[in-house]
Amino acid sequence: MSIKSQIENVLESLSGRAQLVAVSKTYPASDVQTAYDMGQRLFGESRPQEMAAKWEALPKDIEWRMIGHLQRNKVKMIAPFVSMIESVDSERLVVAIDIEAAKCERVIDCLLEIHVAQEQSKTGWDYTELLDFVKRGGFDELKNIRVCGVMGIASNTDDESRVRRDFEELARCKEALSEYFSDSFDTLSMGMSDDYLLAVECGSTSVRVGSKIFGRRTYNI
Ligand SMILES: *Cc1c(COP(=O)(O)O)cnc(C)c1O
Repeated sequence: MSIKSQIENVLESLSGRAQLVAVSKTYPASDVQTAYDMGQRLFGESRPQEMAAKWEALPKDIEWRMIGHLQRNKVKMIAPFVSMIESVDSERLVVAIDIEAAKCERVIDCLLEIHVAQEQSKTGWDYTELLDFVKRGGFDELKNIRVCGVMGIASNTDDESRVRRDFEELARCKEALSEYFSDSFDTLSMGMSDDYLLAVECGSTSVRVGSKIFGRRTYNI
């Protein structure tokens, strides 16, 4: 199936209940352009170099979201243009983003990535540690970061009840954290190609769909 018809299918199944971040990591800029020509403006990438190269090559009204694990020394590659960093998962990264955003005289929108999956290998904040950091006022002095909500990845399993449990936990975390942030704390980013409809049922406001739109990836990152 073509990228065009797959985007149409995904948008129809969402029917406006959540925004679509088209995850274009590993796919060529020409695929992004195809989706762009259909009106898609939000794209997700996992690697700073790849995102920066696509940003240079493609129309400047694309909103680029970092969704992959981000190393502190790579923040400066994307700080001038990134529209949101969804994968904020440590104090040290928070500080690095604030510094680089200040250098660019920007405020960068961020999501707090929380670890809920059963796999230990998955990234994200331990919720208890995150809550502790928030309560200590960890974000209070940071003028160049705006915290817009929570992001998470469910367990990689066919067991739908486990995936649902992960999504429900993310939704509860977002609810609980919202009292510490302003009204802009309104995004719950969860759901990928295989589970985005379940995620929307559980309250997702933003889904990250890659392979369902662009086809199978030849390698994984
Ligand atoms: C790759 C990736 C996605 C998209 O995965 P698909 O299964 O291709 O839809 C979503 N979120 C994150 C964090 C990713 O790394």
